[in-house]
Amino acid sequence: KKKMRKKIVAGNWKMNLNLQDGVALAKELNEALAADKPNCDVIICTPFIHLASVAQVLDANVIGLGAENCADKEKGAYTGEVSAEMVKSTGAQYVILGHSERRQYYSETPEILKEKVQLALKNGLKVIFCIGETLEEREANKQNEVVKAELEGSVFNLSEEEFRNIVIAYEPIWAIGTGKTATAEQAEEIHAYIRSIVAEKYGATVADDTTILYGGSCKASNAPELFAKPDIDGGLIGGASLKCADFKGIIDAWK
Ligand code: PGA
Repeated sequence: KKKMRKKIVAGNWKMNLNLQDGVALAKELNEALAADKPNCDVIICTPFIHLASVAQVLDANVIGLGAENCADKEKGAYTGEVSAEMVKSTGAQYVILGHSERRQYYSETPEILKEKVQLALKNGLKVIFCIGETLEEREANKQNEVVKAELEGSVFNLSEEEFRNIVIAYEPIWAIGTGKTATAEQAEEIHAYIRSIVAEKYGATVADDTTILYGGSCKASNAPELFAKPDIDGGLIGGASLKCADFKGIIDAWK
């Protein structure tokens, strides 16, 4: 079953790398992967201002491109915002939505995220939708109810056809940028739970086809163990996506 669904390693650059450094990294990565074909889909998600230039140096058959956010409004007088349509027009195919940093630092609520998801899909973008619990919630054994509520709040309103454009990224907040990875067993347990609630909502076929990524201090040393688990279909990578060798090390975990 696992072989059927898309395996993905996606980078999330966050607010790192200026335009020149970002384009240089994209070029280096494209060359490395063109020469040594990965066994999974590879996506890089960059700041808005990088998208158009990075699209120029990527071969879309080798590396997919995504944004890290988009607006919850279609267009108009929203100074400083970037719409899903604008993201799409750069050549990007994906957008990350619901990242815990956006929820925590920019007050993105489930309702706002629901709007963003709908606008992204309407404009032909696929969504990497992030969910995950805090350390406090994990210690209270509330991780399952937290991820369920996050899915119900922003994506379980979608039709089956729409939902097929969602990649889920499970990212325990206590593991993001902390060097503290969930154990492969901890991650597998909740990935299996997430797949089971997708099955309850959309049926077993959709659940089998849904890619569920792990994120949070994923690196070349722990990726093989994580990706070997039956319900872990790849990773969403922050820190380790900022250097070609580190990121390729994770991609190579699929070999
Ligand atoms: P990290 O970030 O790999 O630096 O922990 C992952 C993420 O936030 O997507």
